[in-house]
This record gives sequence, structure tokens and C-alpha cells, in this order.
Amino acid sequence: KRIIETEVMEEDARIEPSLRPKTLDEYIGQEKAKQNLKIYIEAAKQRGDSLDHVLFYGPPGLGKTTLAGIIANEMGVNMKVTSGPAIEKPGEMAAILNNLQEGDVLFVDEIHRLNRQVEEVLYPAMEDYAIDIMIGKGATARSIRLELPRFTLVGATTRAGLLTAPLRDRFGVIHHLEYYTVEELSTIICHSAKALGVEIDAGGAEELAKRSRGTPRLANRLLKRVRDFAQVKYDGNITKDIACFALDLLEVDRYGLDVTDRNLLLTLIEKFSGGPVGLDTLAATIGEDAGTIEDVYEPYLLKNGFINRTPRGRVATEKAYHHLNLQLQEKSGI
Ligand code: ADP
Repeated sequence: KRIIETEVMEEDARIEPSLRPKTLDEYIGQEKAKQNLKIYIEAAKQRGDSLDHVLFYGPPGLGKTTLAGIIANEMGVNMKVTSGPAIEKPGEMAAILNNLQEGDVLFVDEIHRLNRQVEEVLYPAMEDYAIDIMIGKGATARSIRLELPRFTLVGATTRAGLLTAPLRDRFGVIHHLEYYTVEELSTIICHSAKALGVEIDAGGAEELAKRSRGTPRLANRLLKRVRDFAQVKYDGNITKDIACFALDLLEVDRYGLDVTDRNLLLTLIEKFSGGPVGLDTLAATIGEDAGTIEDVYEPYLLKNGFINRTPRGRVATEKAYHHLNLQLQEKSGI
């Protein structure tokens, strides 16, 4: 696994719960989402009502699960956690819903992966706080309606486009989570360091933040790795120099690119004169699946201006050449 993988890894699972902020005020960044949620939570509390259903979408590791927990905490209710792929049958979803208490938050991660029959149980549950259950079989079968407590569904997805319209339309509040700035990540890193009992100075935090690809999960993971390094090799304090040294050893460079990213850029530049080259050709050359390149490798490189997508294929930008210390070659015909 790549160290810059943003999906949760085993090493994260051990530390993440202790690093999760518990209130909106402790939650760094995502100002727009935070401001809106503050108002909705306050209003729901004043009315003595449950909060409207909330959907968060955006890349992994940006704080969707954390926000769901904060909502439950701020509303003073319990949170039940499940995920799209974990629920296979409509009856399982009905049982989860039936066990909720008044006001509870039901967090459904990867909600775009619910199958259609399970999803259909959610429609009346979200809209009317009720589920329809079939009793009996064959000719005597009939449907009865079971009332549910008023609950809040918080859905999270990395791919909002994959959500069906009927499901999406049943969320009253929809927020896109953005990548974090270096300043925001530095603050998160300082908080996490405190919680982990690690000494880090401003330069060390900034260096880690710059290489964390805008993602708190990665910032926390890299912090933990650099801490181990600082502990074993030095006196435990993380300074800019120590962060640089440790992250260079981990092969995460100053833009947060790893070996795989650099290999892709290098292939594009050296084997294809910087492009344009079609995705399939590029994939075959580096021995990767085209879909993986498109979904996993490319987004960060595109977002940070290392490659461009053109109708004729992928092109390495000047920034990529510069970063890899290569001369921008004269290319004919472009
Ligand atoms: P997602 O559900 O989007 O994959 P998580 O909510 O699990 O992401 O966040 C991953 C980790 O990053 C959490 O353990 C949390 O400590 C940290 N984190 C995420 N967002 C923030 C934030 N805004 N402030 C502080 N820590 C955060």
C-alpha cells in the first residue's frame, strides 16, 4: 500500500478515534459547512426536533465521519454507524432503523454502495419516519407500516455522482468537503501532536502539512511516522529539518508526491516526450490499470498542475518537468 493512500489503513484505525475533534469549534477548516451546520443544529435544538438529513461528499480522509460524530455530539444524541456495502438485505436496514432512539444519528458511510432494495427502505424512513414491512406470504401477504422515531441520517460518499436522484433528493443539507490548506493542516497537526504527546515546532508542522495532500488523515499518519523517526533517531522533537529528513526517507516529496506519482510523471516525460499520450498506452507502460490511474493517481496530479488532460491524451506540465529537474524539451507539433 502507498503511504499516501487516503482510505483508512490499519495504522490509522488505532489512532484516529483519539484524534477526532468532538465539537464544531474544535473542527478545523470547512468553514462554510461548519457555519451552516451550526445554524441548523441550533435551530433544531430550539425546536426540540431532530436535525434534517445531511449528506457529505468529497475525497476520503477529509473529515466526513468526524463531522457525523460532531453532529451527534452537538445534538446530544447517540450515533449508529454502518456502511453501504455492509448492508445486504432490506430486512437488515429495517432492523437498524427500528432500533434507533428518538433523535439518533444514523451514519451511513459509502452510501452510494447501498443496493437498490436496501436503498428503497430508506425512502419512507427518511421522508415519513416509517418503514413498510411485508407480513405473510403469497395471496395473504400484506404490507404494514411501522412508525420510526425521528432520526437524522448522515450519509457520506466519495462519489456524489453515483447517488440516485431519489436518495439525493431526500437530504435536506448537502455539503462538499474541500481539501485543506497548508495553514489548516498545520493547525490540525499541532492539535494531533498535543494529543499524542509529541513536541513539534511551527516549521515541522508546516513541512508535514505541505506534504499531506490537503488531507487530515494523511497528515495524522505522516505525523505518527515522523514521530517514530524523531523518537528513535533524535530527542523526539519534530523540527522542519527532522520532518524533511524523515519524509524524504519515506519518499514523500515536498509536494506530497510519492514514488508512484513520480514514476508516472517520469514515464510521461521520458518515454513519451511529455505527451500527449492516451491513458491506455500510459497504463500499459507503467503496468497499471487505466481505471486506477484515472481514479487514484491522476486527481492529485491534475489538481496540482503536474499533468493536463487534453483531447489527445495526458500531457506533463512545465511544473512536472521543473519538479523532476528536467529541461522542458522542445516538442514538435504541439
Ligand atoms: P472521512 O470520513 O472523510 O474519510 P474522517 O472523518 O475519518 O474522514 O477523518 C480522518 C481523520 O482526520 C480523523 O481521524 C480526524 O482525526 C482527522 N480530521 C478530519 N477532519 C478534521 C478536521 N477538520 N479537524 C481535525 N481533524 C480532522
